[in-house]
Amino acid sequence: MTAYPNLLSPLDLGHVVLPNRVLMGSMHVGLEEQPGPLTKLAAYFAARARGGVGLMVTGGFSPNIEGWLKPLGGRMATPIDVFKHRVVTEAVHREGGRIALQLLHAGRYGYHPLVVSASAIKSPISKFKPRALSQRGIERTIGDFVNAAVLARKAGYDGIEIMGSEGYLINQFIVRRTNKRTDAWGGAYENRIRFPLEIVRRTREAVGPDFIIIFRLSMLDLVEEGSTFEEVVHLAKELQQAGVSILNTGIGWHEARVPTIATSVPRAGYSWVTRRLKDHVTVPLVTSNRINMPDTAEAVLAAGDADMVSMARPFLADPGWVRKAERDAPDEINTCIACNQACLDHVFKNKRASCLVNPFAGYESERFVKPVTHRKKVAVVGAGPAGLACSTIAARRGHDVTLFDAQEEVGGQFHMAKRIPGKEEFHETLRYFRGELERTGVTCRLGAHVGAADLQGFDEVVLATGVHPREIRLPGIDHPKVLSYIDVLRNDADVGDDVAIIGAGGIGFDVAEFLLHSGPSTAEDVEVYLDTWGVDAEHADPGGLKLPEEQPPARRITMCQRSPGKVGARLGKTTGWIHRASMKKGGVEMLSEVAYERIDDDGLHITVKGEPRVLAVDNVIICAGQEPNRELVTSLQSAGASVHLIGGADVAAELDAKRAIEQGTLLAMEL
Ligand code: FAD
Ligand code: NAP
Ligand code: SF4
Repeated sequence: MTAYPNLLSPLDLGHVVLPNRVLMGSMHVGLEEQPGPLTKLAAYFAARARGGVGLMVTGGFSPNIEGWLKPLGGRMATPIDVFKHRVVTEAVHREGGRIALQLLHAGRYGYHPLVVSASAIKSPISKFKPRALSQRGIERTIGDFVNAAVLARKAGYDGIEIMGSEGYLINQFIVRRTNKRTDAWGGAYENRIRFPLEIVRRTREAVGPDFIIIFRLSMLDLVEEGSTFEEVVHLAKELQQAGVSILNTGIGWHEARVPTIATSVPRAGYSWVTRRLKDHVTVPLVTSNRINMPDTAEAVLAAGDADMVSMARPFLADPGWVRKAERDAPDEINTCIACNQACLDHVFKNKRASCLVNPFAGYESERFVKPVTHRKKVAVVGAGPAGLACSTIAARRGHDVTLFDAQEEVGGQFHMAKRIPGKEEFHETLRYFRGELERTGVTCRLGAHVGAADLQGFDEVVLATGVHPREIRLPGIDHPKVLSYIDVLRNDADVGDDVAIIGAGGIGFDVAEFLLHSGPSTAEDVEVYLDTWGVDAEHADPGGLKLPEEQPPARRITMCQRSPGKVGARLGKTTGWIHRASMKKGGVEMLSEVAYERIDDDGLHITVKGEPRVLAVDNVIICAGQEPNRELVTSLQSAGASVHLIGGADVAAELDAKRAIEQGTLLAMEL
């Protein structure tokens, strides 16, 4: 008897039976543009097929050049593309998996001068103004979609997904916001949905009945002048009629100012959207967004919200996710924490996607955990993310590893991170690593600060001792109202109602978030989340937005940085705006070009752009960055030990858990 009977039950699509209800959703990973055969992409998908995913969808490939997301982006348009893709489908089929190619025409979201759209309206996220497609251009584009689907079939794909959501070209045709045409492709809703319907109808005709056609339908646009609920239902019925095999849920355009997949979004926070469509169509419906663990997926399916669940990032974090669910071993899953740091943030910077918690993701044909030929005694000092990654991978390879930490529990700074409202998922990483320590047989020595004398007799000593908070020199820095982020986040110091924060990096923002909130976080409560960000569960207005609810903040906070420019400019590419918006909602004053003068009973004395000011605060919290903790290096080196530095102990500047885990992993592969 499985704990996940719905999740693991097969789904009969007529010509093919999927083994379970798990769809690996489309995600661009940066391997799509490899010259020649897509061997790296093949290895990436083969690992997920081996892991038991029912059906996978590739990242978006455009049906023509105009539809590129970026210059020279991946395409499915010529016989050469068929040749390039065949390695992918063959590798997946060898592992017993199924894979569909996503056809994505970026429309006005394309980042190149050839962009087209329904109308010539520039998007807020690309600097290129689109040209409105002519009627002939529309016909040609539909033909290109059909051609791409036929080629995909030739390349061995089991189906295609037509990207009709997230604000890409098809979505641009569907809504008034971006379709101001007055011809047969604009105006009335029937006209605006002709474009997707013609694509689906003609594609079905061309590929025959035994080929999966998934349509990603924008069920909630989260932008003004989006679709109404009635329009979504209407289109879904027409798409069913036109021959789709599966409807997948799309939530929010890329230009929407509502976080839809960040870690502060509650798990399965949008399954209610799919549920509302359930009674109107008979084709299988896939729900998506922030489903990352089997119990969440099972609950969504058991409640009848959808027929399948889509997850993309969770399979970067753990390709073996489905197999672990099948073995009823959810505790072994390396859970996606929805941080976006190594996946989407990389893709937006044109870098290969990987995963913060799994640095093997995207490197399936390059990084391997090879068993050792000579077993060494390895000491790892520091059980933060760097030390945890290093010790568990080294032990998995066969080394005899002892992990030391001064704290009573493993995790390092993650114990502070997990306390931040909206970062509850960090608990999962700690749970995973605790299990890995046991499974790989690492000996843990916790609760004792280690000195060089304790580290004798080891072949290799890895220092993962992390960081010290940077100490700043300022008159009054010893005043009782001064606290460090550690006092607040680890030691539960009492904090007054008026607070100034020195330093506006990741930790400064997190401390502000921590101090602003009381009650459940958005990640813990769907209603709180929807109210905070102004998402209307009734979908009363086109687009599904409502006025966000004003919450009185728990404190008055001022954040300061010395540099000029936007406060928080260096935060994550895809998540920084969420943190800044959250501060704005909390009424946080954000000051740049600040010079700190002194701290006394009156508060924090500063000048802002040369103007003197006193922030009359109860507490000043120092979040001014970090310095490496290398206290053991010299003594160990003089004792002749073979010493390695990783994580914050190596370099504290620009340190994050992504680098700490990757560095720990890479070192462990070499020891
Ligand atoms: P640490 O996590 O600092 O661990 C070092 C460990 O070494 C500690 O447990 C310490 O007790 C131990 N130690 C030190 N000296 C000794 C000794 N002599 N003997 C025994 N033990 C010793 N990063 C992200 O990527 N994303 C985020 O969203 C994020 N959010 C954060 C939020 C907060 C509030 C904080 C504080 C940090 C956050 N970080 C985040 C940063 C991330 O946690 C750090 O980059 C990461 O923990 C660094 O890992 P590390 O292993 O190098 O060191
Ligand atoms: P940080 O991001 O480097 O920010 C340090 C802040 O302190 C900056 O605002 C800096 O701005 C200021 N500062 C630096 N030196 C100062 C000095 N001598 N006096 C006064 N102010 C000073 O470091 P952090 O906030 O401590 O975060 C540590 C690491 O954890 C970061 O690298 C970050 O990536 C990671 N982290 C990530 C997240 C996330 O969500 N991804 C969250 C938390 C932490 P000015 O120099 O302009 O004053
Ligand atoms: Fe998930 Fe973060 Fe990994 Fe992306 S980098 S897959 S969001 S854990």
